[in-house]
Amino acid sequence: MQSIGIVGGGIGGLALALACRESGLTDISVYEQSPGPVAEPVAEPVASSHGIVLSPNATRVLYALGLKEALMDAACHSDALHYRSHRTGYQISMRPLGAFAEARYGAPFCQLLRSDLTRLLSERLRERHIDVHYDWRCSRLVEDSEVISLTFDNGETRRHDLAVGSDGVHSHVKRFMHEEVAPTFTGHVAWRGTTPVADLPAQFNSHPMTIWLGPGRHITHFPVGDGAQLAFTAVVETAEPTEESWYEKGDRKTLVEQFQDWHPVIQALTGASQNLHRWPLYDRAPLARWTDGPVTLLGDACHPTLPYLSQGAALAIEDAWVLSRMLETWEEDVASGLAEYERYRRPRAARVQVGSRQEGRNFHLSDRWQIRWRNLRMALSSRYLPEIAMERYDWLYGYDCVKGFD
Ligand SMILES: Cc1cc2nc3c(=O)[nH]c(=O)nc-3n(C[C@H](O)[C@H](O)[C@H](O)COP(=O)(O)OP(=O)(O)OC[C@H]3O[C@@H](n4cnc5c(N)ncnc54)[C@H](O)[C@@H]3O)c2cc1C
Repeated sequence: MQSIGIVGGGIGGLALALACRESGLTDISVYEQSPGPVAEPVAEPVASSHGIVLSPNATRVLYALGLKEALMDAACHSDALHYRSHRTGYQISMRPLGAFAEARYGAPFCQLLRSDLTRLLSERLRERHIDVHYDWRCSRLVEDSEVISLTFDNGETRRHDLAVGSDGVHSHVKRFMHEEVAPTFTGHVAWRGTTPVADLPAQFNSHPMTIWLGPGRHITHFPVGDGAQLAFTAVVETAEPTEESWYEKGDRKTLVEQFQDWHPVIQALTGASQNLHRWPLYDRAPLARWTDGPVTLLGDACHPTLPYLSQGAALAIEDAWVLSRMLETWEEDVASGLAEYERYRRPRAARVQVGSRQEGRNFHLSDRWQIRWRNLRMALSSRYLPEIAMERYDWLYGYDCVKGFD
């Protein structure tokens, strides 16, 4: 294979370009519809940024791509993940992260601003002399004698041996190979924002990552950047039908109202929040296939993942590594490389999608007895069986595609 055209310069597309470069490919082009490096998958740039948690299954790939130092400079780390009850603040359970997780999985958890993650990927690509074409929106794909022509809104056309659609949940490239399947609104809306630590009660100074669980909603917060900001994601179940859009600006008053009967700490967090945006969360049926001739998909374009396990970007990064290695291994037979890529990645992505849905249901329980049973199980395992509590997640965080993909 001579050349690869990557449509979509989000986290997955940038990671793929870098992984392909590291595996020896030189003719790599990334086409991104936004006018500049994007922190969020939207058509217009978001002035501010939100937080992202990267788990060891993703950070080990970024390490392998030579980003260890840059990632450590940009990221914050929490020693533990605390689960708390929404009204009393009672600590239900605790999972060790920090050194414990790093020793167990060989790579750390980290938290950073999404804009920092896309910046460090873009900088590395520049060092490797790979251009990302910003303001290039792909609108048409035509297959012609095993070559794929990409046409862009600016009138340009480019031909590649392989096109990869890393263009997110509303993927245009996906439409090339599948009939559009209507997405289903999950009834959940995610709010994301940041709050300056200085505006919060002193208890936030210790910075543990925390998930507060309440009926029909939850909120996760963690420090980002130099630790002066807390990033948070709040997910709320709502009966209101919502237009499908990637994000819209959020109104602080509405967010505060939705958490008004929660612990005072959460009221402080929402009350001083900034950079608010809200995402209606949509789910899609699994695709029958990811590849059609010289076109394949990666990341949210083929397996959008609900955010309850914080895994969507991690999966896109894993996809990027595996696809690049398959293209390297099957250099003379791209079709077999793409078939192998799907074979390795589809079961993994499906398992994470299902696991994320289950975690969401568990977080949002509203029946009093079910909540007590859940809390008891979580408390017992964290107090007496932390190893076993962590073992539950070994399949997720211990997945090491850098070593091999069985
Ligand atoms: C509330 C929330 C919290 C989350 N938290 C986490 C977390 O903590 N950890 C985690 O791992 N994941 C998290 N995720 C999931 C994660 O954000 C996504 O899974 C990830 O961004 C997917 O990356 P991607 O590159 O596949 O797609 P995207 O990030 O959607 O990128 C697609 C890119 O393609 C571009 N594009 C689209 N169409 C075209 C076109 N026609 N031509 C050219 N370019 C185009 C877009 O502008 C965009 O830049 C969260 C998601 C949500 C909603």
